[in-house]
Amino acid sequence: MSSDEAIDRLNAAVRDVADFPSPGITFKDITPLLADAELFAAAVEALARPYATAEIDAVVGIEARGFIFAAPIARVLGAGFVPLRKAGKLPSDTVEETYDLEYGTATIAVHVDAFDDGDRVLVVDDVLATGGTARAAANLVRRAGGHVVGLAVLIELGFLGGREVLDGVPLTTVLRY
Ligand code: AMP
Repeated sequence: MSSDEAIDRLNAAVRDVADFPSPGITFKDITPLLADAELFAAAVEALARPYATAEIDAVVGIEARGFIFAAPIARVLGAGFVPLRKAGKLPSDTVEETYDLEYGTATIAVHVDAFDDGDRVLVVDDVLATGGTARAAANLVRRAGGHVVGLAVLIELGFLGGREVLDGVPLTTVLRY
């Protein structure tokens, strides 16, 4: 599959679900893409490719859909996998970061010993919307001693401007709307 063909087929496999999880939101449902062996592999390849020579030590997945891509990307890059989870889920000592959502706040956490000082870290998620989650994730990685090399997301919702709030963290994306 050529990379142009891969992008077309990946695009076609993302299902728009209107008014989920709340009225006015068009949810980007990646489950049809994940269920297709070729497309899942193509998505992992496309996400990992920009970092092939970046000497990544750890790939961080943002709960929950970020895990799906971060783990195979870690294997491709020869790196470890680190889960970044909602507060209260990780069993050992954590650092936490609270950030604003459209309504209310959210708190994410990572184990304090997840990284060695200066580890080169790639942060992965499925969708970049307003960018709040990704920015909080990058802050958390830094506070835990990691160096954020980049943020890789499958889908960028460009009209929401998430890219602008990332404080200079390099962003790579596969599909853009
Ligand atoms: P944000 O913090 O606004 O960038 O939101 C990013 C997080 O919310 C990601 O972890 C996404 O999985 C999820 N998300 C936000 N908007 C959507 C959407 N339209 N479709 C699917 N997931 C979304």
